[in-house]
Amino acid sequence: MPTYHLTGTLRGTELAEVWVVNGRICHRPTHHGPGNDGVELPGWIYPGLVDAHTHPGLSHGPDPVSDAEVIRRLEACRAQGVTHIREMGAQRDVAPLTSPDSPHHVPGLPKVIRSGRHIARPMRYLRHLPVEIEPRDLPAQALRQLARGDGWIKLVGDWIDRSDGAESDLRPLWPREILIDAVAAVHEADGKIAVHTFATETVDDLLVAGVDSIEHGPGMTRDQLIEARERGILIDPTVRQMATFPEIASHAAKYPVYRAHMLAMDAARAEHIQLMVEAGSHLIMGSDTAEDVAENGMAAELARAVADGMPASVALAAASYEGRRRLGLPTWDDGAPADLVIFDADPELDIDAAARPDAVLIDGILAPLHGR
Ligand SMILES: [Zn+2]
Repeated sequence: MPTYHLTGTLRGTELAEVWVVNGRICHRPTHHGPGNDGVELPGWIYPGLVDAHTHPGLSHGPDPVSDAEVIRRLEACRAQGVTHIREMGAQRDVAPLTSPDSPHHVPGLPKVIRSGRHIARPMRYLRHLPVEIEPRDLPAQALRQLARGDGWIKLVGDWIDRSDGAESDLRPLWPREILIDAVAAVHEADGKIAVHTFATETVDDLLVAGVDSIEHGPGMTRDQLIEARERGILIDPTVRQMATFPEIASHAAKYPVYRAHMLAMDAARAEHIQLMVEAGSHLIMGSDTAEDVAENGMAAELARAVADGMPASVALAAASYEGRRRLGLPTWDDGAPADLVIFDADPELDIDAAARPDAVLIDGILAPLHGR
């Protein structure tokens, strides 16, 4: 395994240079001596990016995704500098392909934090995706999905309730008391709970219940954002996905209240992203992609976030070292696995550079960057 010497601009550390030895970060020079330090890798270097919300194992139809498709999606993540993903719900368990202990393990893919399947109520989320339950079953189902994950579960917190005819709008799925019980059960089992939410009225229940991460959150008020920050709750704004609300609204002619609600959130999108930053939110960055990850993955997410007014330094930190820390992943620690991304231009000066990593290392192994 080659040794690397990393110089240039190392982001998220005070270190001026590090080495990669036997696949791990090393703070001391190799004993080969000056001029024989290993392969030089200069550039703008970050701990590998984390796509905190993507779905390699998710199928929008009745059939599960194939092995080849899971691998294709994860390779597309990797080509965008992503060395870890947090899978936010999927029918297909990808562990046989991604777990190093599995006989079918495919080496060199991004590392995956799974969260089981989406949990929702009948008719209250996209078809085919969730396990559908009644509210009283939530704590038990949360534990069941936790057992199929890597410490996270994914809950659908609100969705359109079509039972109100033309008055239909986004409504919370779960009574507050049930939510509190479910979160307590998951925490008791050392798990964490991520919740999809669009609507303002859902968020107070999530804050009181003490969920661990809020996905999307375009309805969060300033006070709710501040409360989330105080409680250490992560915010995953999935900015590119939020920019699809006009498209969603265009299919909702039968539900004018809902349609207007979605369009109003879209109109406030950029202002709201800036409010999240201003509030000091504990940001992580997720693309909310599945089969479309090559087109709409981390590169598109970073570009959209910056276009909407998130400073590039904040976006990159949240996608890399800050986000990793928030999710309990190592960064530049001596002896940590060498999961890194290297750019040949500074993505904080030109965010387009984030779409073209020069090199990606996973466990110290240079990944092939397809189509590059
Ligand atoms: Zn999602």
